[in-house]
Amino acid sequence: MAIDGHEVVGVPVFMDNYSWIVPLSGSKAAVVDPGDAVPVIEALRERGLDLEAVLLTHHHPDHIAGTMELVNAFSPGDGGSSRPAIIGAEIDRERLPPLDRAVDDGARLFFGETRCEVLAVPGHTRGHLAFVIDQALFAGDALFSFGCGRMFEGDAPTMWASLQKLAALPDDMLLFSGHEYTEANLRFARHLSPDDEALRAEQARVAALRAEGAPTLPSSLCDEKRHNPFLRCADPEFQRDQGHPGDPVALFAALRAAKDNFA
Ligand SMILES: [Zn+2]
Repeated sequence: MAIDGHEVVGVPVFMDNYSWIVPLSGSKAAVVDPGDAVPVIEALRERGLDLEAVLLTHHHPDHIAGTMELVNAFSPGDGGSSRPAIIGAEIDRERLPPLDRAVDDGARLFFGETRCEVLAVPGHTRGHLAFVIDQALFAGDALFSFGCGRMFEGDAPTMWASLQKLAALPDDMLLFSGHEYTEANLRFARHLSPDDEALRAEQARVAALRAEGAPTLPSSLCDEKRHNPFLRCADPEFQRDQGHPGDPVALFAALRAAKDNFA
């Protein structure tokens, strides 16, 4: 996935998190969710990129803990106006690093020529945001490949509405999530739909990528809409298969609870 001719870079941090480096015009970049500063600083410097902004999807430490160290590493000594901007949800301002720009659903940000749209997708946390830049969807812990985040601060109707908002984005979007959870999510998806040949093929493809240590992200939103069980809760056939005909929220709640307890 390239923005302005430059690739989005996934920096693995901790056990299974990703911080995403998003190329902007010139040699500028934004970083989504710097859980740990050191590997992100290295990745930016290796590529000769300068940090323009930090986008925070939500307040969990594995997504924000490196923010200040990262920003300080790319700030001029005089603390002047070219300091990178920290951007996050107004509603969670008190649980986030000090924000230079607090945003909410529908906000539009501009980094030079590059436009970023902000979507509020509560459920995993109450102030969870997703960022859409060009064809890239940075979904944090709201939506994973073949899975979704746990509902720590929201109920099933809230989280389901958030996922529907993401599913309404165009099919050619690419999904960049906050964690490498694809293999475990596919095991659960196959447990729900053991005869689904598409899932079987995905499992083989993903296993091969992981065997090489390669990321399974981004995935295509089109594929997620078709095969991610948490996005299929409005599909009448899937509802019947899973025993919740006509009730997407009840099905979503049942799947989320089942996944929480799935070994
Ligand atoms: Zn989280």
